[in-house]
Amino acid sequence: MSKPPRYIVVGAGMSGILAAVRLKQQGIDDFTVYEKGESIGGTWRENRYPGLTCDVPAHCYTYSFAPHAGWSAFFAPGPEIRDYFERVVDDFGVRSHLRLNSNVTACEWDGARWNVEIEDGTKDSADIVIAASGVLHHINMPAIEGIDSFAGDMFHSARWNYDVSTVGKRVGVIGNGSTGVQIVTALSQQDCEIVHFQRSPQWIMPVQQLVYTDEDRAQFASDPSRIEALRNGDEYWGGIRRFNEAIIDPDSPAMEEIERLCRENLESSVRDPELREKLRPDYRAACKRLIYSWGYYDAAQRPNVTIEVGRIARIEPKGVRMQDGTFHELDVIALATGFRADRFIRPTRVIGRDGIDLDDVWRERPSAHYAVTIPGFPNFFMLNGPTGPVGNFSLIDIAEQQWAYIEQLLEPIRSGKKAQVECRSDAFDDYNKRRTLAARGTIFGSGCTSWYLDKDGVPLTWPWSYDEFAEAMDKPRLGDFAYA
Ligand code: NAP
Repeated sequence: MSKPPRYIVVGAGMSGILAAVRLKQQGIDDFTVYEKGESIGGTWRENRYPGLTCDVPAHCYTYSFAPHAGWSAFFAPGPEIRDYFERVVDDFGVRSHLRLNSNVTACEWDGARWNVEIEDGTKDSADIVIAASGVLHHINMPAIEGIDSFAGDMFHSARWNYDVSTVGKRVGVIGNGSTGVQIVTALSQQDCEIVHFQRSPQWIMPVQQLVYTDEDRAQFASDPSRIEALRNGDEYWGGIRRFNEAIIDPDSPAMEEIERLCRENLESSVRDPELREKLRPDYRAACKRLIYSWGYYDAAQRPNVTIEVGRIARIEPKGVRMQDGTFHELDVIALATGFRADRFIRPTRVIGRDGIDLDDVWRERPSAHYAVTIPGFPNFFMLNGPTGPVGNFSLIDIAEQQWAYIEQLLEPIRSGKKAQVECRSDAFDDYNKRRTLAARGTIFGSGCTSWYLDKDGVPLTWPWSYDEFAEAMDKPRLGDFAYA
């Protein structure tokens, strides 16, 4: 019998930990998880800004195999999520497989195996690579004139500098995606003056935060069916399905409902008509990733918060100059300007069969067949790769389904019948054609800027229903693959 395959997992964020646990559960020990950071957790390691919270309900943002009774609230704070992943790593015995501070700089296929290089010069090889390198980690520094001239403290939201106190300071927050909104909501409670710079206002979906008591937690612990009811109940799934229907059919009643809820939230929450108009977007709700918040409009109306919707002309040593000449003098600037979400595993050099460079394959736009495989790259699989479902889903659930799909594709290799599996080019081209066409018709393509769009303005997202995704992951179409 041939030797069982060896695996290399790139990244120890949510998806990489999932891969490690699943391998371990299958009795596979010959794998290493390389992680560029000094600890695990991916986006939950990098983001430590004030107010960091996951807008997917906590009990739904957990692995199916590791429910957690101890969440402090319905929407969990970031540090608890980070701790949760640390615990999973220990509980499922995968810590010894982790290599931290190990940035994978190259993966090269030599016709039989993947040869992997680490930044420190270490080399490794494996039959199978799982690219679990995440999406939101290459920070987007805005190209604002004079940005380097600022004399105060400035940092990106994913590099929050807690050595700098914001108390008693004048703080500018540039950007109002989910991150900027959470930061301003949290900082508004402090003794500080905030200017929130919004290039384009956002629609805000109202949600209730619910703090769990010790009694709630004890009940979740003693009766796991309560957790299951939250994870699998109609309230969560009804919401997911309605939201999904709205994304793929912008004329649907579900979309009308989202627009109504967001509009009513703005009308009923913001008292001053001038501020209300400042905060009113001129594009459709959910075109950008919809923001869920229970506190932002209150924050925006606090006396220590100024909403600035003018265009930034430049950053000067003492603050931010607007195009109309207004000047905001600031001590601290937080750049909540998002991430370069089209990078995926890059800048790691990935060289596939016959020297194909992933960077060339992705020159137009990053894509993967059903978000998992790429022709020319045998035995190379992505978790939360390009064109997967995004938009207020639990990405843990998405990654788990992708893993189950990968396991099925790998079955002939694990059983020693085959050595390689690769997605066929015609299947990939067909997928891309169908996906691109469908994506243009989704709400994400309805006329706004966002990180969902590729350079041609086409959403890079899964354009069909959640159920179609689940069905696609449930059983790979084996005709789309070539085994050798
Ligand atoms: P984002 O959604 O990409 O928002 C970036 C913000 O920065 C936008 O408001 C953008 O304005 C602004 N911006 C960018 N460049 C600018 C410039 N040169 N001048 C002025 N403004 C500029 O980034 P994010 O808020 O960090 O969120 C990224 C993703 O992280 C989210 O979509 C979400 O998936 C995830 N996230 C999730 C949670 C959660 O609770 N699950 C929390 C935080 C983040 P425009 O809109 O005008 O481009």
